[in-house]
Amino acid sequence: MTCRQPLTPVLRQLTRTTSFELGRQSSRSQASSLARTAAKASAASGSRRCFSSSQPRPLKATASVRQAQSKDDFTSTKYPEIKRDERFASLTPDHVAYFRRLLGGNGSALIDGVTGEAADDLAPFNSDWMRKYRGHCQLVLKPSSTEEVSKILKYCNDNLLAVVPQGGNTGLVGGSVPVFDEIVLSLGRMNQILEFDEVSGTLVAGAGVILEVADQYLAERGYIFPLDLGAKGSCQLGGNLATNAGGLRLLRYGSLHGTVLGVEAVLPDGTVVDDLSRLRKNNTGYDLKQLFIGAEGTIGVITKVSIQCPQRPAAQNVALFGLASYENCQRAFREAKSQLSEILSAFELMDEGSQALVHQVTGSKRPLESPYPFYCLIETSGSNVDHDSEKLQNFLESVMEQGIVADGTLAQDETQLRSLWSWREGITEALGHLGGVYKYDVSIPLSQMYQLVEDTRARVAEAGLLGDGEEHPVRAVVGYGHMGDSNLHLNISTRRFDARVEQVLEPFIYEWIAERQGSISAEHGLGLAKKKYIGYSRNPTMVGLMKQIKRLYDPKGIMNPYKYI
Ligand SMILES: Cc1cc2nc3c(=O)[nH]c(=O)nc-3n(C[C@H](O)[C@H](O)[C@H](O)COP(=O)(O)OP(=O)(O)OC[C@H]3O[C@@H](n4cnc5c(N)ncnc54)[C@H](O)[C@@H]3O)c2cc1C
Repeated sequence: MTCRQPLTPVLRQLTRTTSFELGRQSSRSQASSLARTAAKASAASGSRRCFSSSQPRPLKATASVRQAQSKDDFTSTKYPEIKRDERFASLTPDHVAYFRRLLGGNGSALIDGVTGEAADDLAPFNSDWMRKYRGHCQLVLKPSSTEEVSKILKYCNDNLLAVVPQGGNTGLVGGSVPVFDEIVLSLGRMNQILEFDEVSGTLVAGAGVILEVADQYLAERGYIFPLDLGAKGSCQLGGNLATNAGGLRLLRYGSLHGTVLGVEAVLPDGTVVDDLSRLRKNNTGYDLKQLFIGAEGTIGVITKVSIQCPQRPAAQNVALFGLASYENCQRAFREAKSQLSEILSAFELMDEGSQALVHQVTGSKRPLESPYPFYCLIETSGSNVDHDSEKLQNFLESVMEQGIVADGTLAQDETQLRSLWSWREGITEALGHLGGVYKYDVSIPLSQMYQLVEDTRARVAEAGLLGDGEEHPVRAVVGYGHMGDSNLHLNISTRRFDARVEQVLEPFIYEWIAERQGSISAEHGLGLAKKKYIGYSRNPTMVGLMKQIKRLYDPKGIMNPYKYI
């Protein structure tokens, strides 16, 4: 994913010009040279900010992390307070025989550890992306149609068998894997693109379509999927909706609650909810599809998706800046909003700690010559190369002259554009290579956002857990995220998962956020990780209403138990 080619240090050149030549050089001549640079970059990057490969790229945890997983790493062992719900039945050979008949003779449609040995095949379905949670599932079912999903769920409901829907298994809150012996319902075979309207941009697809595949399909037709995230090579549209994933394009295209037009879902009793509307406007009653978006598989299984896709931008630019303070990051964001306005498509924040760890893992040459406490990545997407370049040039000049930005670089072509993005998109994966990560995905008013990282770092250090040697479980406390959405990812990178670390972090972080009226889950959801902390962001009335909805849709509680609420 990373590029070793040197990046053109446009802003570094500008810094020098600005610092000792500004008095002599007319702003007009400076502007025209920058405009040429920006235009060249925009034209070279073409219509794509696309890291898509022709094949999806499954994300894998490293061997070192895998080794760290032992028999003691079952979720049920780590969290003994969570007890198996005794109402649920245990799987028998008769149950397996039913599912085998239902899914036909297709061997790839079922992984059976009940009547035979299948530990190796079951392992990836039992373990989450972070290798933090691990279940005891003995049966994986892979339906290929809504009808099969319906029959599976009806049978499970009738026989009190608990079920965990699973997409790409890239979720970061432990929602996608079982805790005990729940059946995993894997949607990967429901991976057909069903319709695309080239006039309206409406895409209808199966829940198992991989996000990157959908985006490639759209790219060939001049459109773009309105969601983009680092796990795009593995995560699935159904999982994206179920988590209401936010990602890198939310600033521009908004949340899935706005872009999703329709959903087909199956309720636990087998009822198929056909709300697969292709309409942008439909005020006929309650908008029930919204309940499935962000429900994390607790009230039903999403089987199909209809979504409004925007036109793919003709011109894109990416710039990365080094900044001396968080205060300057906020100033840069304000300037970007006011000067770039409608072409601003991403504004991402990274601190030096996160970038140093990416460098440690990838060994890639860093984009800027010197380290800075903070970095911002800005992307513009528009329809007119000259217009965008002029705006970007004016913006770059302005933030440099005001001393908001200390140094920076602008991607000159598609390869450099991808390389700059990799310093942001690669953080999650890089941290995963170094050991266990405690991840907190939070929304906080912008003015206080980075303070949480500093306060957490101080607290972990005070507890004697942070340091360079093996005796310290915590390697670093870093922050990055979607600054444009006030969404911080606070990550505590550890050498190994350690209960002492968790005790120092929780509920401290949640209390800190609640005091500032923030959200303890901005985009990753609740899953198992945050289930017991929902009260820090939602009042008792809201939680009560959510529980009523859960009981209404899933009265026997078979859908993704032990999680969410
Ligand atoms: C490197 C990396 C970067 C990431 N970046 C972002 C980011 O920028 N923004 C962001 O929001 N998230 C991000 N994530 C988290 C994750 O990728 C998203 O939450 C993604 O939407 C999950 O999709 P999935 O198919 O992997 O779902 P899974 O992980 O398989 O499942 C997630 C949840 O959805 C449920 N579910 C899955 N499929 C269905 C279905 N068809 N019907 C009903 N329920 C279902 C599961 O039961 C589970 O509760 C990132 C993860 C990684 C590893």
